[in-house]
Amino acid sequence: MFRRVLIANRGEIAVRVTQTLQQMGITAVSVYAQPDRNAMHVRQADEAYLLDGMSAADTYLRSDKIIDIAKTHNIDAIHPGYGFLSENATFAKMCQDDGISFIGPSADVITNMGDKLIAKKVMGDAGIPVVPGLTVSVKDAASISKDVAKIGYPVLVKAAAGGGGKGMRLVASETDLADAMAAAQREAKSAFGDDRVFIEKYIDKPRHVEIQIFGDTHGHVVHLFERECSIQRRHQKIIEESPSTALTPKLRQQMGEAAVQAAKAIGYTNAGTVEFILDQAGQFYFLEVNTRLQVEHPVTEFITQQDLVQAQLLVADGQPLPFNQDSLKQTGHALEARIYAEDPQRNFLPSTGTIIHYVPPAAPYIRVDSGVSTGSEVTVHYDPMLAKLIVWGATREESLRRMTWALRHFVIMGVTTNIEFLRHVIEHPAFIKGDLHTHFLDEHEVSPPSDDDTPDAVLIAAAYCSKQSSHQVTNVSGSQNAESNSPWLSGGSWRAF
Ligand code: ADP
Repeated sequence: MFRRVLIANRGEIAVRVTQTLQQMGITAVSVYAQPDRNAMHVRQADEAYLLDGMSAADTYLRSDKIIDIAKTHNIDAIHPGYGFLSENATFAKMCQDDGISFIGPSADVITNMGDKLIAKKVMGDAGIPVVPGLTVSVKDAASISKDVAKIGYPVLVKAAAGGGGKGMRLVASETDLADAMAAAQREAKSAFGDDRVFIEKYIDKPRHVEIQIFGDTHGHVVHLFERECSIQRRHQKIIEESPSTALTPKLRQQMGEAAVQAAKAIGYTNAGTVEFILDQAGQFYFLEVNTRLQVEHPVTEFITQQDLVQAQLLVADGQPLPFNQDSLKQTGHALEARIYAEDPQRNFLPSTGTIIHYVPPAAPYIRVDSGVSTGSEVTVHYDPMLAKLIVWGATREESLRRMTWALRHFVIMGVTTNIEFLRHVIEHPAFIKGDLHTHFLDEHEVSPPSDDDTPDAVLIAAAYCSKQSSHQVTNVSGSQNAESNSPWLSGGSWRAF
């Protein structure tokens, strides 16, 4: 087994990987950019090395700097987390060439699955259902208008190199096709340096249901059931759960088998996710393969009682998977909510500042994966996700109740968060019914929290702050007198939502 593993990431995922490394007796080595010098992932690691620079582009995205550190400090393997270099085939190849294990699939698999057109072709050829559409890159609208009419409007224009919803455009009718294609091409060019786009039928009000897969180098491939991630804002997931309310045992088995078949078709090793969209008639279609550990992996860890990071390390070390399909069971129900420093009342504008008080909920079957604590700085440099709150319950009803309780008892003061917004989603009658689709938040207009909607967490924090009132703290608006430290007297930056 590896002795020294470097985590090429920051925030909660770097902390998460560190925990498993240390539990396995492996030295956890972190890297950090200047604004992160006091960050939790740096403090918790066994060793930490500076990546000179401020922005992500100068630090966590600099494969050369990271590989240099790895070589200087005798690193055996690199865990890329998610985001940053995790789906960068060149980085995976650089690690390989320098004799450092990359904890993930092979560089070739990353390359092929990173190209939505290649991925769709491979999966279609392997017999996996794919969304009807044009399977080649297209340049101009005029030459394809007949073919698009055959698919039937509305359609989506998608970037071949796309990710995070970028380079995607909905087209309602032929009149809009040319403009939408030009806009998608421009966006794809600037975001990915690749302007290839293709056309896909737009599935109305679909669900996003994905299957966790795992392969080892001994030819074993298994799935670890589904996660439903239909609650999205601007194509970004914010709440995930397993089991999905949309899957019958038969459909679950079919989707699980399709995902394993997909993984086998590409010789997949390590952890990955096969994403599908599910239409209202219950037909599922392949979307893409994410060649890394997902943000929402704790949902699967709760329902299967497996440590996916540990399994990743075993597989990267050439050992067989620690589970097989028959030993894996989906037990109870798990739910995850992503906590962001953002203001739902101001169109989800990111919120920055110092976290002056941070107390996560603590009770049985509640897990908080976090990269921050009291005193942490939330800056403009990186993603504003502060923490993930994950709960488990014997039934969905129990886990919904537990999530509501946990959100009410999550104290974060100093930056504005979406905690109360998340609670409104969880408590929405349609969410409780399990009546989900990817446009849930557009359709239901979940109300932003109002001022009299004071959660328990704020009451607790208010009591805390009044005790601390002689303590001088600068809030984000810059005022420093003790009186303004009262959450009742100061403005939005003090609110826990
Ligand atoms: P990205 O890689 O940019 O995240 P995906 O292909 O994974 O793009 O799609 C992101 C989200 O966009 C999906 O979760 C789904 O909500 C929506 N989406 C993608 N393709 C379709 C489609 N053909 N019809 C309807 N919605 C879609």
